[in-house]
Amino acid sequence: MMKCKDAVKLIPQFLEDDLDNRDLAGFLSHVDRCPDCKEELTIQFLVQEGMLRLEVGDTFNLSSELGHLLSDARRRLRFRRSLVFLSYILEIAVAVLSVACIFLAIAL
Ligand SMILES: [Zn+2]
Repeated sequence: MMKCKDAVKLIPQFLEDDLDNRDLAGFLSHVDRCPDCKEELTIQFLVQEGMLRLEVGDTFNLSSELGHLLSDARRRLRFRRSLVFLSYILEIAVAVLSVACIFLAIAL
């Protein structure tokens, strides 16, 4: 379990979408369980996004925007993890195929 100190440090990177899979997973599960860090995230998100929107004149629904941000991040994490998984499978498939080719070459 990630410490609050570490989770808070990751907030700016999270908002920039600049975390690797491991940090992102730890960060998301921490924010899920820790109201303090969720609040800190909300504040930093408000400062970063809210100010931008106010300049443009958009209406801004903080809690729903933050909810979107978090569910997007979870979706991206799942997607990237499945890509990692897929690349393992491909590597194994390639390894099996090359072994099969070597056997064939010997047998023929
Ligand atoms: Zn925390």
